Amino acid sequence: MTMGPSSAPTSVLVVGAGHAGTATAVALRQYGFAGHVTVLGAEAEHPYHRPPVSKAYLSDDAQPELLKGPTWFQDNDVDLRLGRRVTSVDHGSGRAVLDDGDVLSFDTLVLATGARARAIPLSLPRAGCWTLRTFREAVAFRQVLRNGARIVIVGGGFIGLEVAAAARRSGCAVTVVEREARLLQRIASPVLSQAVTRYHRDQGVEIMLEASVTEIVEGADGSARAVRLADGTELECDAVVIGVGADPRDDLAREVGADCDGGVLVDGGARTSVPGVYAVGDVTRREVAGYDGRFRLESIPNAGEQAKQAAAAIVGAPPPRPEVPWFWSDQYDLKVKIAGLLVGANHHVVRGDPDAGQFAIYHLDAQQRLVAVEAVNSAGDFMAGKKWIASRATPSVDLLPDSTVPLRELVPA
Ligand SMILES: Cc1cc2nc3c(=O)[nH]c(=O)nc-3n(C[C@H](O)[C@H](O)[C@H](O)COP(=O)(O)OP(=O)(O)OC[C@H]3O[C@@H](n4cnc5c(N)ncnc54)[C@H](O)[C@@H]3O)c2cc1C
Repeated sequence: MTMGPSSAPTSVLVVGAGHAGTATAVALRQYGFAGHVTVLGAEAEHPYHRPPVSKAYLSDDAQPELLKGPTWFQDNDVDLRLGRRVTSVDHGSGRAVLDDGDVLSFDTLVLATGARARAIPLSLPRAGCWTLRTFREAVAFRQVLRNGARIVIVGGGFIGLEVAAAARRSGCAVTVVEREARLLQRIASPVLSQAVTRYHRDQGVEIMLEASVTEIVEGADGSARAVRLADGTELECDAVVIGVGADPRDDLAREVGADCDGGVLVDGGARTSVPGVYAVGDVTRREVAGYDGRFRLESIPNAGEQAKQAAAAIVGAPPPRPEVPWFWSDQYDLKVKIAGLLVGANHHVVRGDPDAGQFAIYHLDAQQRLVAVEAVNSAGDFMAGKKWIASRATPSVDLLPDSTVPLRELVPA
């Protein structure tokens, strides 16, 4: 049943029990929504934190870290159904069909279907090629990470580099193959790329830049045996990790007729172009206050922010205050935190010493406003930068590089 313009929603179906879907259920209850809430998740595990998939879950015996205690859903009257996939949705009649043929009714739909690991356009061996997005994949892959295994990682993005760090910790021989001229090309500045590259090389990771994979060679047992590059180099290996990005899982959004363009397009209330249909998290492409354009922000803070936006819009509450986008990555003892977006950046200033492993790169626009800060092992810079981005502050470019000047003295009071 489709709601009339004035009728209040009484039942919300959230598709996807990852961070964004779970956070939406939590926010709905926090905003006082008293109607029926169902959360459907294709994975069998109780909703868990995903970032450790490329970090802590790769250690022996690590268990999933739960997003909410085991009884939270029951205690808050949220109908959680796991191991069930929504296969089709008819928004007009308010019905969703599950993979076991069950049909659920709803008046409001929240799509929190996340993203899927991007494939590389090559035929792959029957075994030995891995993508890491789920706890189960991490558990299976950690058997591969035994001392001496040779791992080739295709793609030098954050996930690939986190896996490289975990594999080195396990004593594996690791090669990262990156097509672009630098690591983290899509997401980080050249200064951060260089520092991270140097750090991985110091840890014994072989990094090959501007290197294109043309074939993943299958051994006699059907498993990946080598990675062949465009220049003919053959990298022998025991396993290949493919970390070349993720694509939005927007099939259901397209089915209901929501506008999609590299993600489900949503406004500041997580509304899609179809009334009564919302989308949150990795599946979306959204506007961000203070930056021109629309962005897919694959991060936990984004999932949490959009969950609150959707809940507020559904109950008719004022939208929550916009947040500065941010992201973190842990590699070895490096804690990388990035606030803001490298959009409209015109110049940068480095504070601290990249060689000493503690520094921050402040990116400013032509009006000297801070648009992004990339901090490595420097929580103070991250916090200050995030605050300044929110307030559109113009920190002193002359004093920023001098780390003896306290941060609080860098912006006019
Ligand atoms: C390995 C890895 C490491 C990461 N590390 C960091 C990090 O350090 N810091 C950070 O900020 N972010 C990190 N991220 C990104 C962060 O985890 C995501 O931004 C966040 O999990 C997005 O949440 P989501 O709910 O939108 O999507 P997801 O977490 O992908 O969850 C979507 C869920 O929906 C389910 N689903 C999909 N379709 C259906 C359907 N039709 N029916 C039922 N269920 C369905 C999927 O099975 C999945 O469980 C990492 C991501 C990965 C993969």
